[in-house]
Amino acid sequence: IVQYQGVTKTFGDLEVIKGIDLALYPGEKMALIGPSGSGKTTLGRMLMTLEEPTTGTILIDGEPLWQMKTSSGKLVRANEKHLRRMRQKIGMVFQHFNLFPHLSVLRNVTLAPMSVLGLSKEEAYQRAVEMLTKVGLQDKLGEYPSRLSGGQKQRVAIARALVMQPKVMVFDEVTSALDPELVGEVLEVIKEIAIDSDMAMMLITHEMDFARDIADRVIFGAEGRIVEQGSPEAIFEQPESERLQSFLKRFR
Ligand code: ATP
Repeated sequence: IVQYQGVTKTFGDLEVIKGIDLALYPGEKMALIGPSGSGKTTLGRMLMTLEEPTTGTILIDGEPLWQMKTSSGKLVRANEKHLRRMRQKIGMVFQHFNLFPHLSVLRNVTLAPMSVLGLSKEEAYQRAVEMLTKVGLQDKLGEYPSRLSGGQKQRVAIARALVMQPKVMVFDEVTSALDPELVGEVLEVIKEIAIDSDMAMMLITHEMDFARDIADRVIFGAEGRIVEQGSPEAIFEQPESERLQSFLKRFR
């Protein structure tokens, strides 16, 4: 459903992504692990069109993200409309929840379905309540973000992404900014979503047990390259590269 083809990304003099070829299959739950600064977040942000690759292409459903076909079949640079349509296929949850502080929980979740998908207020409300129930916040609809715990805020952010019914969800270190005692509730919600949905997921995480638990495939990246990939068993029980072995030691 997603293909990175020869993707590189440079910020100034810094080459952060040094040639990534990677496919995410429909329904697949993929975990991305690796040291800080290895470029994991940048990979997610490129999918979300928040960054453009320096070279290479990203395809979603076989269609290039940054290019589009004209009626005569010529490939040209994507316009805003094309990007918007492609972006709708992807949902992203960030480390910092990025909720709108001046809107209630419910409004945070209904805003995009109404403004982007054009749903009526009633339809958006119905979907939002369903998603907020799924993340266990059905009794917080009228609350404002400032009155929620970090874990609750992050669950609102998850509901807000899910309500758009994306084909792919990117979770970018969603528990890194949370107090340790709040991590569990958020991971539990993501796990439930992973189990009962056929959405593809890209989980950027430092939680190794979590990656092992829910991923179909684990990708270990370092310094802008994929170093090793495989099933959770292969990656965690029989790491081949020295890089991965020493990385995993830190979590033991
Ligand atoms: P972490 O686990 O710490 O989030 P990461 O693997 O997700 O790390 P990225 O956030 O993708 O890594 O960052 C990779 C490198 O790119 C870092 O050195 C970062 O400072 C740099 N970088 C990311 N975004 C930008 C930007 N917009 N401008 C300049 N440098 C950037």
